[in-house]
Amino acid sequence: MKGSEPRGHDKSHRDRQIEEVGHDPYHARSKPAEPAVCPQCGVVYHKGRWQRAARPAKATEHLCPACHRINDRAPAGYVTLAGAYMDAHGEDVLRLVRNEESREAQDHPLQRIMGIENREGVVTVTTTDLHLARRIGDALHGAFHGELVIKYSPDEYLVRVYWTR
Ligand SMILES: [Zn+2]
Repeated sequence: MKGSEPRGHDKSHRDRQIEEVGHDPYHARSKPAEPAVCPQCGVVYHKGRWQRAARPAKATEHLCPACHRINDRAPAGYVTLAGAYMDAHGEDVLRLVRNEESREAQDHPLQRIMGIENREGVVTVTTTDLHLARRIGDALHGAFHGELVIKYSPDEYLVRVYWTR
């Protein structure tokens, strides 16, 4: 692992990587007739994108990509958090993780945390979207420093983020 690289200064490189990963197959499967509403979470599909809005009068029901991933238990992002600092200040770290989700929830309603699991001190946060996982990693690195490693899978829409301190 190249954990010693100053990843915080490597943004343009990472953005290019995210483009190379391509499009989320769950989005491709999820192009309903407009207007549509997700029966599970209530987001509305309008003008080609899923967004938070009032339910339109004649909306058809169509599962949104985020709920589809949640139902399939198929995360697009895995954020693994570990280390002595994490052990001692896990609550602070997870508060920042949650903040990162809620900060852009209005504009990006499909970027959600699916779950937070703690297995013997290693916490894994799963997300419905690559961008949220990467943003969480950047936010943790910006706030708490430590080591950040981001790995995209070349063949699937998936990112693994490792933050240790
Ligand atoms: Zn939904």
